[in-house]
Amino acid sequence: MYTESDTSTDQRQPVVLVTPAPVTHRTAEENLGLGYLAAVLRRAGYSVVVLDGWLAGSPADALADQIVAADPMMIGFACYRSNMGSALTTADMVRCRLPGVPIVAGGFGPSFHAEEFLAAGFDVVVRGEGERTIIELAERYRTGTPTLSGITGISFRAGGSAGFVHNPARTAITDLDALPMPARDTLDLTMARASLVHVQSSRGCQASCTFCSIVAFERLAGRGPTWRQRSIRGFVDELEHLHSLGVRHVKVIDDSLIEPPRDAAWCAELADELRARGVSMWLRGSIRADRATPAVLTGLARAGFWSFSCGIENFAPTALRRMAKRADPEANFAALAEFRRLGLYAQAGHILFDHATTIEELEINWAAMVAHDWTVSKGIFTEMYAATGTNYTRRLDRDGLLTPSTQTPGTAGLGNHAYPITDPAVNTVYTALKHWQRSHSRLYDRTIDPLSAPKAISPVHRDIFGQLSIELRRADLDFFRAVLDLAAGGATAGEAVEFTDNRIATTAAFYHRVAARTDAAYQMAGLHYDGQDNPFLC
Ligand code: SF4
Repeated sequence: MYTESDTSTDQRQPVVLVTPAPVTHRTAEENLGLGYLAAVLRRAGYSVVVLDGWLAGSPADALADQIVAADPMMIGFACYRSNMGSALTTADMVRCRLPGVPIVAGGFGPSFHAEEFLAAGFDVVVRGEGERTIIELAERYRTGTPTLSGITGISFRAGGSAGFVHNPARTAITDLDALPMPARDTLDLTMARASLVHVQSSRGCQASCTFCSIVAFERLAGRGPTWRQRSIRGFVDELEHLHSLGVRHVKVIDDSLIEPPRDAAWCAELADELRARGVSMWLRGSIRADRATPAVLTGLARAGFWSFSCGIENFAPTALRRMAKRADPEANFAALAEFRRLGLYAQAGHILFDHATTIEELEINWAAMVAHDWTVSKGIFTEMYAATGTNYTRRLDRDGLLTPSTQTPGTAGLGNHAYPITDPAVNTVYTALKHWQRSHSRLYDRTIDPLSAPKAISPVHRDIFGQLSIELRRADLDFFRAVLDLAAGGATAGEAVEFTDNRIATTAAFYHRVAARTDAAYQMAGLHYDGQDNPFLC
């Protein structure tokens, strides 16, 4: 363990930045956060080694060996909810072999669970954005300055029995153009996996949905703006640079691509700038339904966007109000109509169940889903995720509805929480759909992954996966209808499970056929699926 009185480190030793593989049903994606941290450290004169255990497929012991071999002066772990367990394991393996080297954790997981990470042995936790914090930390460790006080946005263990120290929050970075372009140490790994190369043009979101960890993360920085943007020039400079490296498939990982002052004119200007520079790429982004106007989507389609994830969440006005969504059902319908008109893929985020879902809401959703069965979705069962730090979780806690959950393997109980479904008829539908989803989730994940964690594949191959996705969706919606009818007849949750088992048996041949066609599509597209079973369905 590093202590505040340790002396300075060797300047030639690198900072090692590492992200361990998560427990997930998804395939590996680039960690742009590490790229930004590496870039700011190098600009400040530090040597940096980037190790991405997910992209490289490295287990914890191999990752630990690589960290030790790099002989670091400081180790920074990028953590989120589903890689918390492997981060803790890897850090444990490293600590005993590199005594005295400070081990720092940052990202969403540590930001909301600082004390758990410190108690597990991390020396420092970075809360919120890390680019400025990591420079100050590296400087302290390099010079041997014997105190961590004065570095905003960190938590650490104090000596003796003083417990944990939480320094004041750090304000958010407002000038994103002042950041260097992210380092691309893992570009080859990313492209070898046919994963999309990640780029960021803005951070945060101006909405405030009750369940959203992005909003909670932005608020860690206090009262500053919750959405910040890069200029078109800076954004296109980076796309042009990537284009010169042979990159043609990009995911713009913004939480919310379009927020004021961005508007239709901004989208048109982006398209014009890309065209003027000869940068032609397939782009994927995330957009709020209430921002997805015809003019905005037309401009973005011209810029190269072929696919969006869009948090539709629900079609019932009462459910949308509980979530504090800015979009009403009409905005959701209008956005979906525009995606359809322009031939854009739409991965429609959905939250079918929360603690207060009613049968009327489920009926509204069933009808709207049938009308939009072409949207990309990994199965019919979805539920509100109660993450630490969100308004939703606070409200459940206040109402006495919250119970800590240990359902998700590898997280040691960190992160998610359980709550009851209040209406018994809704609980019958919930039980049946979850049981159904468990039975098919492996196939859903494999079939739909090339569209939902999009892969660098041709439009022809996309459409093959898209067709399979629609066939699975239609089968889901037939089952959903049957379960709604069952619940209307007064069936219990236990009877719903029995009904579901029968349905799984009688439809098995259909799913075998889809699985065989999915295998063939993977071969044709040259893809490999290596996700695990969905940990959220335990
Ligand atoms: S629109 Fe999306 S990113 Fe914005 S607050 Fe809602 S869920 Fe979060």
